[in-house]
Amino acid sequence: MNHLTNPVASILDHYPALIIDGALATELERRGCNLKDDLWSAKILLVSKRGLSQQEAIALIQKSVKLAVEARDEFWADEANRVGRSKPFVAASVGPYGAFLANGEEYRGNYGLTEEELMDFHRPRMKALIEAGAEMLACETIPCLIEAQALVKLLEEFQSIQAWISFSCRDETHVNEGQRLEDCVRLVESSPFVAAVGVNCTSPKYIPSLIHEAKKATTKPVLVYPNSGESYDASKNDWDGHPVYASFGEEAREWFHAGARLIGGCCRTTPEDIRVIAGWARNPT
Ligand SMILES: [Zn+2]
Repeated sequence: MNHLTNPVASILDHYPALIIDGALATELERRGCNLKDDLWSAKILLVSKRGLSQQEAIALIQKSVKLAVEARDEFWADEANRVGRSKPFVAASVGPYGAFLANGEEYRGNYGLTEEELMDFHRPRMKALIEAGAEMLACETIPCLIEAQALVKLLEEFQSIQAWISFSCRDETHVNEGQRLEDCVRLVESSPFVAAVGVNCTSPKYIPSLIHEAKKATTKPVLVYPNSGESYDASKNDWDGHPVYASFGEEAREWFHAGARLIGGCCRTTPEDIRVIAGWARNPT
C-alpha cells in the first residue's frame, strides 16, 4: 500500500457523502462565454487562441489548477464557510483521449490506439497537473476499458497522487464502447492509487442500475456525476433535448440510497442542482 493522502477518505471518514461540483462549461456559457469550440472551457483561459506550443498548453493546464486552488483557499479563509463541512479539495480533470479529438469520439471509444499509446498521450498532462498542485486527479468520462487500464498504469508509474476513475456509459450496464461497467470497475479495483470509481457524463436515468453494477466489483467508494440527460450533438457542438428530471438535485438522493458516496453533476447541471444536493447530503435521512 502507498501512504499518500487520500482526499476522498479524509472526507468520507467524517461525512456520509462527498459533494462533487457541477458543470464548469455550462456555467461559463450561462455567464456569456462562447464555448462552441473544440477546446471547450480551455478556450476561456486563452489569450492567443491557436498555435499553442506544448509548453504553452502545459502552462495553460497548470494555470487552471492554480486558479482553482486560489478560489478554494479564498473560500476557506472565511471562517463562516467552514461550518459543518470539510475543506474542499481540488481534483484536476484528466479527460479522455476522445475529448482531444473534439469530434464526439469520447462518447464512443474505439480509438484504435494501444495501451502504450494512450499512456504516452496522458503522461505529460498528468505530470503537469500533479506539478501544478492538484490534490487529486479526476480521470473522467472514460469510454472504454483500455483507457482505464492505461490510466491505472500511469498512476502506478507516478506513485505520487490518488485519482478517481469515472466512466461514461451508454445504458444500464455498459460503458460507451460496449464493455460491461462491472468489468471496467473490477480492473481498477486492485490499484492503491484509485480512491473512488464510478460514472459521469451519462444519462441520470441509468444511474441506479450502474451503481448496482459497479458495487458488484468494488469495495471502494462509488461516485456518480451524471449529466442532465440531454444529448450531445458533436456535429453542432451543442446539446439537444430536455433534462430527464425536473429536479436533478432531488433525484440524486436516490443515488445516495443506492450506495453512491460521491455525488455531483456533469454537463448541463447547474450550481442550483449542486446546492440542492448539498441541502440533503450534509444531513441525509
Ligand atoms: Zn459531461
